[in-house]
Parts: sequence; structure tokens; C-alpha cells
Amino acid sequence: MSKLVIANFKMNGSKEFIENWAKDFHEEKESNKIIIVALPSVYLSNFKDSNFNLAGQNVSNQSSGAFTSQLSAQMLKDCGAEYCLIGHSETRQYLMETNENIKQKFDQLAQESIQQILCIGEPLEIKEASKTTDYLLEQLELISSDQENIIIAYEPIWAIGTGLTPEIEDIQLAVDCIRGRFNKSIKVLYGGSVNSSNAANISAKTDIDGLLVGGASLNPKEFANIAQLC
Ligand code: PEP
Repeated sequence: MSKLVIANFKMNGSKEFIENWAKDFHEEKESNKIIIVALPSVYLSNFKDSNFNLAGQNVSNQSSGAFTSQLSAQMLKDCGAEYCLIGHSETRQYLMETNENIKQKFDQLAQESIQQILCIGEPLEIKEASKTTDYLLEQLELISSDQENIIIAYEPIWAIGTGLTPEIEDIQLAVDCIRGRFNKSIKVLYGGSVNSSNAANISAKTDIDGLLVGGASLNPKEFANIAQLC
């Protein structure tokens, strides 16, 4: 089964940057991976390239109405998004998302048949207290254990954008905990300071289904290398 490799642009890029990024990505060798690009949503509908699948970075927990600034799942679908991140640690923190909000977003996306990519991960103090798996299970409480077709991205908060990554054994422990929570087979990704120096090791030594890449994805050649190494 093809692995998923996701570029999360966060709030970076411009129309020109994204066009050049796609060209430079293609100059690298073809990869047999499913490549997903989570662009800032204003750029989604301009981005027409059949080699990439599009993802939103967030969605409203409401379907329509007086929610100035928000984007519904239907709008994301209109703009070509087939996937959407939810519960990213940055939206949990800066937009003060609760588990309840995230569950509503999950359901909104399901109604539009947009594949949810649910991000979970522990802060440093939880890791240091050796309570990571309890914390992850708590974050997963919003999803039924019978849920099918779900993608969970395990992203330790302390690893995002810091250059730090967990030990391989700790990634596998988290992945086993996440898989064990569901009755059906699900996809689990790893994210947090992935680059072309660590992607092959993380990918080969754990049974992850792919990688979620933030900062390093902005460099198209680096991201293409990561995709090949995954
Ligand atoms: C992310 O934001 O999802 C992420 C993994 O970021 P980075 O790769 O920069 O740590």
C-alpha cells in the first residue's frame, strides 16, 4: 500500500511560491507515494496539479451561517480538498480548540466525504512524566473505536518545529497505542521535525503509514527527497 506523505505549508507561501514549488518538486525523481499538500485554503482552488492531493489545514465546526472568517467542509470540497487536518497542535493552541470542537469538525468533514487527518500528540511535560499513551488515548476519546477509514497523525508537540524527534521505540509505542485503540485497521502517520536526514530511519524502523512534514516541506527538493525516503 502506498505511503502518504503530507506537506503542511502552515501560513507560508504565495501564489507564485506555490507554482514554483510544484515545478521544482516535479524536477525530482517520481515517487510512488500519495502526496498530499495542505495549502493555506485561499490557494486551494488555484492549485491544479493531478499529481497532488489537496488538504485543508482546518475547517469550521459549523456547516454555514454567521461565522465570519470560517470555512465550511463544503467550501473546502468546492475548492478541491479531499483531505483536511484537524486538531493540529497549533490550532488547538492558537484557536483554543477543544476536543468537542474537533469532534464536530470531524463530523462536518464526514458529511462532505473529506478524509479527516486527526493530529494528536503530547506536550513535553507529559512525555517527561511518562504519560504519553494515556494522553493520546484521552485525545482519541472523541472517535468511536469502530471508526473506519481514519488517518491519525502522531505529532508530539515538543517535536514540532524544534529539530527534536522521539526515539524510534517511542514512536512505535505511540503508534501501537493508537492502532490498538481501534477495532479496524487505520492509518497512522508520524509528524514532528521530519527531514531528509531522519525520514528513512523513522519510516523503515516503525510501521507508520506515512509522514506529515511542516517546515521541511517548504523546500520542494527536500520534500521530494523525504517522499522518496518514506
Ligand atoms: C507540523 O506542523 O505538522 C509539523 C510536523 O511541523 P514540522 O515538520 O515543522 O515539525
